This record gives sequence, C-alpha cells and structure tokens, in this order.
Amino acid sequence: MEFAETSDLAAERIKPLVKVLDDVPPLPAELLSLLRFCSDYYHYPLGMVVMAALPARMRAQEPVTIKQEQSFALTDQGRSLDPAQIPKRRVIQHRILQALQNSALNGSQLRALSASAPANLKLMIEQGWVEPSETAAVVPAVHTCSNAHVPTEAQQQVIGAVTQTQGYKCFLLHGITGSGKTEVYVHLMHQVLQRGEQVLLLVPEINLTPQLENYFLSRFPDTELVSLHSGLGDGERMHKWLRAQSGQARIVLGTRLAVFTPLPYLGLILVDEEHDSSFKQQDFLRYSARDVAIFRANQRAVPIVLGSATPSLESYYNAQTGRYQLLKLIQRAAAQAQLPQVRCINTSNTPMQEGISPAMLTALNERLLRKEQSLIFINRRGYAPVLMCTACGWLSNCSSCAGKLVLHLKDRRLRCHHCGHQERVPHACPGCGNADLQPVGIGTQRVEEALHSHFPEARILRVDRDSTRNKGSWASMRKQIQDDAVDILVGTQILAKGHDFPNLTLVGVLNPDGALYSADFRASEKLFAQLAQVAGRAGRADKPGEVLIQTAFPDHPLFRALRAHDYDAWAKILLSEREQAGFPPFVFQVLMRAEGKNEDEVYVFLKRAREAALALASPVEVYGVVSAAMPKRANHFRAQLLIQSNTRKSLQQFLRAWRPILDSLPANKIRWSLDIDPLEF
Ligand code: ADP
Ligand code: ZN
Ligand code: ZN
Repeated sequence: MEFAETSDLAAERIKPLVKVLDDVPPLPAELLSLLRFCSDYYHYPLGMVVMAALPARMRAQEPVTIKQEQSFALTDQGRSLDPAQIPKRRVIQHRILQALQNSALNGSQLRALSASAPANLKLMIEQGWVEPSETAAVVPAVHTCSNAHVPTEAQQQVIGAVTQTQGYKCFLLHGITGSGKTEVYVHLMHQVLQRGEQVLLLVPEINLTPQLENYFLSRFPDTELVSLHSGLGDGERMHKWLRAQSGQARIVLGTRLAVFTPLPYLGLILVDEEHDSSFKQQDFLRYSARDVAIFRANQRAVPIVLGSATPSLESYYNAQTGRYQLLKLIQRAAAQAQLPQVRCINTSNTPMQEGISPAMLTALNERLLRKEQSLIFINRRGYAPVLMCTACGWLSNCSSCAGKLVLHLKDRRLRCHHCGHQERVPHACPGCGNADLQPVGIGTQRVEEALHSHFPEARILRVDRDSTRNKGSWASMRKQIQDDAVDILVGTQILAKGHDFPNLTLVGVLNPDGALYSADFRASEKLFAQLAQVAGRAGRADKPGEVLIQTAFPDHPLFRALRAHDYDAWAKILLSEREQAGFPPFVFQVLMRAEGKNEDEVYVFLKRAREAALALASPVEVYGVVSAAMPKRANHFRAQLLIQSNTRKSLQQFLRAWRPILDSLPANKIRWSLDIDPLEF
C-alpha cells in the first residue's frame, strides 16, 4: 500500500520484505483512499477492508498468472470461404464470419454477437475456418448503442439533468416500474462511453442473471462489458477485475462488491433498485454498497444516479431536503402500457381454503380461460411454517435455534431456515405419541398443492429457493414462463424483481399482513417496495394487469397508497412516523451485536460495552442490552446494544473513542461486531 521511512513499531515486530511483486500495478491511490474511508466509517481494520475488496484469487498465497485474452481470427481457409457454403439458417455463423472479416474478436465481443456465438465458433474452429489468434482484438473507439428508443420528453429531462452536471452530484431517479429507467441508463451510459469513460452499474444480487448481462451486451455490441457477481469462479473474477483496472472493460455491471473495482476512467455510477437490502453486506465489513458508491462518486467528482420505483426512505428524505436532486418518471414509457389495477380482498370476512380466497380462485380461473399467466406471491417457502400436535400443542421447534422447523412435504423433512438443521417428519408427536400432526400456516408447496387440486389441468410452476437451487434451473424456468408453457406461477420474492413476463396479467398476494405489525420498523417499508415490485410484473405489455391482495386490513395506509400507485403518500406517512418515533433517517444508528454459547457471558460482555459507552459522556443515546430478534441461532445466544445520535458526525466521534475500548474488553469466545447504519435488527 505504501512505503514508510520510519515506523513506531519495534524493529523485531516488522517482517522482512521477501519480494516485491510488480506484474500487476499497485492499487491506485484513489481506490486506497476509498478503502480508507470504509475502514474509518465502518470502524473495521484497514487490512481487512483491503482484503475484502480484492478478488479472492489475489489474496491467495500462490502467484497469479494472468492469462492473455484469447482472441480469434480467420484461417487462410476461412478467409477464402464462400459464405454460401454455410447454410442460411446458421445465422450466427454468418454473423461471426462477417465480423471476423473486419478484425479479430475476443470473448466478450463474440458473446455480444449472440449468446450462442461461442458454441457456433467452436464448430467453425472444427471446420478449420477459425483459429485462436495472437492479434489482439481492437478496442473500438466508437460505442454503438443499438435499438435505442427515442427518449420520451420525461426521459429526456432526466437525461439532460444528469448530462449537464459537472463534477459530483447525486440524483435520485424515482420512476414507476416500466417508466423507462433502464432506457435512461442506456442513454446515459452511451454518452459516457462516447467520451471515453467507464460506467459502473450496480444491481441487486438477485437481479444479476445472464439475462441482464445479455441485455446490456446486446445494447452495446462493440463495448467490452464485465459483470462481477457472486456466481463467478475466483479466476474469472480476477480476470474481469483486471480488465476493469486496465481500462479495457468500459462497462462494469455488478453486485455490491463491484463498488470496489478499480476504474481508471470512471465517468458515471448508476445504482439500480437503490432501496434493495442486498446492497448492504450483513457480515464482516458491513458496508452499504450504495453509500460507498455515493462516497466514491463524490471523491471522483462524477455524477451518480440512484434509481428505484420505491426509493429507500433515507434516499427519499435526502431528496426532500435537497441533498440529492430528485428526478421523476411518473408514466410508463411504452404508450399502450397501463399500470395494473390493485384491489384488496378482505380476509377477515372470507372463508379461505388453504390460505386462498374464493375471489382469488375466480380470478385465476378467468386467466386460465383467457390463456393468460398468473403469479401467486407468498413469502414463505416450504409446505407450512410449523408442524403442530393437535392433542398436546407440541410445535416443531429447532433444537439449536429460537425458530421453528419448516415442514417440507416434498421430501418429508422438517428444516430450520436459520441454521440448516433438518430431520425426518416424525410419525407421531414426540411429546405425547399422538399420530395426528397438523401443518400450521402456508408455504409455497402447500399453495402449489392446493392449486393443483383446484385446477388439475393447469400447468403450475413453483419458483422459490428450493426449486431453483440447482444451477441453471431458474434459467430454464424463466424460459418456460416466456415460452408460455406455464399457467400459474407460485413463488417468493425471486419472482418480484426485474423480469419481463409479457403474458402475465394477474398477480395474487396471499398473506402480507405479518409485516404490518412487525417489531422491525423497516418491515412495512420493505413490504410496500416488494408489493409495488411484484405488482409491476402484471400487465407489462398490451394486456392490462390486475393485482389482488389478500389482507385483513384493507384500509391500512400501505394498501391505500398501493391501490393509488402513490409512493409519495406512503413515504410521507412513514417519514412522519419515523420522525415522531426518532428512527432513521432522522437519527443515525450503530448496532453492536454479540453472540456466544454462554448466554450470561454474552449479556455481561454487552453490559460492559454499554457502561463504557455511557462513561464517554458523548451526545449519543445509549439503549439497553436486549436479545436479538432471533435470540438463539445454531446454539449461540444472541443479544444487541443500540446506540443512536442526531448527527452522523457525533456518532462517528463517539465510535472513534468507543471502538478501542471494545477491543480491550475481555471477550472470552464471544463474537461481536459493529453494524453502522444497520438495516436489520
Ligand atoms: P424500467 O427500468 O423503469 O422498469 P424500462 O426501461 O425497462 O423501464 O422500460 C419499460 C418498457 O418501455 C420497455 O419495454 C422499454 O423497451 C420501453 N421503453 C422505454 N423507453 C421507451 C421510449 N422512449 N419509447 C418507447 N418505449 C420505451
Ligand atoms: Zn402431542
Ligand atoms: Zn435451527
């Protein structure tokens, strides 16, 4: 990181330098200062921040060999080939041949031609027409943007506002689903590329499917794009990281960790679905990639655009107070696309079967008759959240956690979704021997089963973490949906985000009420975002969509705002609630968590930390030590201590004084952490 002439450490504690590795340039000063900021702000050791930010392969002991980028060129035979010799229907081979007649192509340029280009290329190599080549592929100076729509007036205003910016500015792009935010990103990216600069586009974890990568590849066929996400192998990640660092890759598309990619020509940062909680890392360095991105844009003096249909309350508040500039898209971009009609089904006066109301069944039946797709959304996988004995009231508790074991009927197992523990479904109650054990509550499997019995002819597909666990299964399911080989989808939030299913006209939401009265003050904010997202799946194309929500509280302001498609109304209600209660974004928080096998020791440890905090007499509020929302997990007892302050600055000052004291507390086998700006409690 740096060379120092002198050190405060005793000479014998300093390790000798064996060798300086210089086949990769050192980390740029800009990246180091970003990492220093993270270390300071999140109160996490700098060395560990740097390590967390580097691709794993670079942290390994063995030297790294950098593979030269493979490129491909025509052989003599290929150059003299008459295109008519390739059958007309081999469209991709014709396309590859034509492109290779101009210049050699590298892997990403090939993939930009078509997703099946690599497979076709292999056939062409076998024919002796193409060979791996030494000549590097040409990095184009021109970046074509294909299939661009002419921006609507509203889009043009957004594009103009960002383009006119010199230096740093943070924009909040609040646009309803389908309002053309992605199209705005494409136009902004194009301008930045034309100026010879790089773009960083951050997306939530779940959204980074090959679909999204292919989408941007096809929009920018001449431009090298790398995508960085958790599905990559170590070698692949490092290679892509280096392409970004060398400036070759012009578009970097990635999930939260991509915020640390070195980008020498960075000109613009985009954060899509900025409210998504997957931007926050929940262990080790607990950073928010969105917040780090904002710092980075400021540091590099470039604009940043946070996009969402349902902004986080933090960002919305910042836009209200003028820290961010608010940009709005209030209509769907495609002329014929309508917003779906949202209605509530009052479950307090409706007889339900397996959690499904008659009105929902009628609506499903209508879609089946019209050969349109429906989606039933329920945020719980498995068959039922718990198994109960009808005689003695025994419940399937997890032996290692404070949670319940979820019934999975498909393979007749009880599973803990917190610690992974699983066991066979017992034949009789372990408490009293009664054989009548009943599932309580509903999960995706139970809904799937109930719908099968109501609509035996319908083709039903369940999409949740269990059914998509195997690699590639989600991709093939998506294809089935797009090919109209599915009538009813039953799924969890995997289905809520960013997918375009043009024949989907009904979204049914089964039991969202738990989040309305949750102990987590962000639960209702998240629920609104989730329901707005899932509602956005209905009626994307020319067919109008309908959303039916089963709730016992149809008059709750959340559902009123949802029916009126009025995010602002909802956000204003939430903001005034938060202000009264003294919650973020009106205060700044740090949550200290601790866990250990001995419950008393955990509490004693946190109480010491609390006393130390009080002794500092800082202008912060120190709450009491309380148990975590999940008080026991995998045989570890968990508790926490919340501290908050009216300003970020005073909280940071307090943390700088408190953190060294924490390090010196006796923490016998207790694992603890600080979570700055925590999202989960
Ligand atoms: P969002 O990202 O806000 O959900 P998209 O950018 O995906 O919205 O746009 C939604 C739909 O509208 C897409 O099918 C897109 O092709 C179309 N669209 C976007 N902008 C325009 C435009 N200016 N003219 C016509 N259609 C557009
Ligand atoms: Zn019993
Ligand atoms: Zn468990």
